[in-house]
Amino acid sequence: MTTTSATTTTPAITLESKLPNVGTTIFTVMSALATQHNAVNLGQGFPDFEGDHRLHQAVANAMFDGHNQYPPMAGLATLRSAIASKVSALYAHHIDAEQVTVTAGATQALLTAMLAVVNAGDEVIVLEPCYDCYIPAIELCGATAVRVALTPGSMQPDFATIAAAMTPRTRALVINSPHNPSGTVWCEADMLALQDLLRGTNIILISDEVYEHMVFDGQAHQSALRYPELAQRSFVVSSFGKTYHVTGWKIGYVVAPPALMAEFRKVHQFNVFTVNTPMQHGLASFMQHTEAYTDLPAFYQAKRDRFRAGLANTNFKLAPCSGTYFQCVDIDGLKVAERDLSEAEFCKWLTAEVGVAAVPLSAFYADGFDQRRIRFCFAKQDATLDLALQRLATL
Ligand code: PMP
Ligand code: GLN
Repeated sequence: MTTTSATTTTPAITLESKLPNVGTTIFTVMSALATQHNAVNLGQGFPDFEGDHRLHQAVANAMFDGHNQYPPMAGLATLRSAIASKVSALYAHHIDAEQVTVTAGATQALLTAMLAVVNAGDEVIVLEPCYDCYIPAIELCGATAVRVALTPGSMQPDFATIAAAMTPRTRALVINSPHNPSGTVWCEADMLALQDLLRGTNIILISDEVYEHMVFDGQAHQSALRYPELAQRSFVVSSFGKTYHVTGWKIGYVVAPPALMAEFRKVHQFNVFTVNTPMQHGLASFMQHTEAYTDLPAFYQAKRDRFRAGLANTNFKLAPCSGTYFQCVDIDGLKVAERDLSEAEFCKWLTAEVGVAAVPLSAFYADGFDQRRIRFCFAKQDATLDLALQRLATL
């Protein structure tokens, strides 16, 4: 008979972290702090109002109608066809459902696209400030993120700097317009300059367009899909969560030409295999209500204008906002001594002591670059925005 010693200890596991520089995301940190202090949460980007109940009903109906088993790997054919029609109508890019894959949100689409085409030792260019999932996704591929700054202040792309960062090892470039966190949008001239820059290279474009329906002042969203030369080298990523006010549903899609999509699906099928069935049915039928996204620019523009008008009466200095549901402000002109804290410490103070949560721009730079600027999310009910403004007016 063998005996086991009660004092046996588990051998220590040694780990080399794949993401040694990653902690908990700033969005999670600020939302937890907002809850703890009962602050108005203008930090993490999500609406505090419901989406269209016809969509919720369509999803519920799908569930009760028995659409609860695996859908096809790439997504429901009816949903992919509806997406292909939308892309053709909006961006004059004529594709079929084979160039669309439904994903578990934009985050999965971005990671899967990178895993599909970026190899160890490659370089991928990102434009900082950039959304927090890009660099970890690049690093999970064993590749190097090459960080190029958007022009400080204006946050416009500087194509000479991007060109200077391109090397024979550059596998991909990630762009994001409308841009989180700055609220800037790329214009036609930017897209044409990008098209010129990439012509003749083997660089894949990963275009994060989750805020495609939040472009203001009569401008049109400049999707990479509008530009045939770009479209043929691009993964274009969209998110139903943003468009239909359902960020918690985590469902989106990617559009890519056949050769790129074939590689994408090889990874997708072993990453998530497919995405939940009832929501795909619900979205497929709800997508016929095109006003749900054609009305969105005016809807969010009204919120932007209300929020900006209120902020204009405070000591925050407004940055321009042409798209997204984010408004950035500079904190240097505030009367309170806390304006001298780092952006991150200032946001914590603002949440705990003033009762309004925001996100520091430094969280969007790998080196924590601090330009005295913070981000508010205005995807909130008017009463929520007004309460926040009342509190911010004291600074
Ligand atoms: N890209 C950007 C720029 C975002 O702001 C977000 C989320 N807010 C995402 C991607 C992720 O979208 P999803 O929730 O659909 O994964
Ligand atoms: N994208 C949202 C933002 O920028 C947050 C999403 C998340 O929490 N991962 O605030």
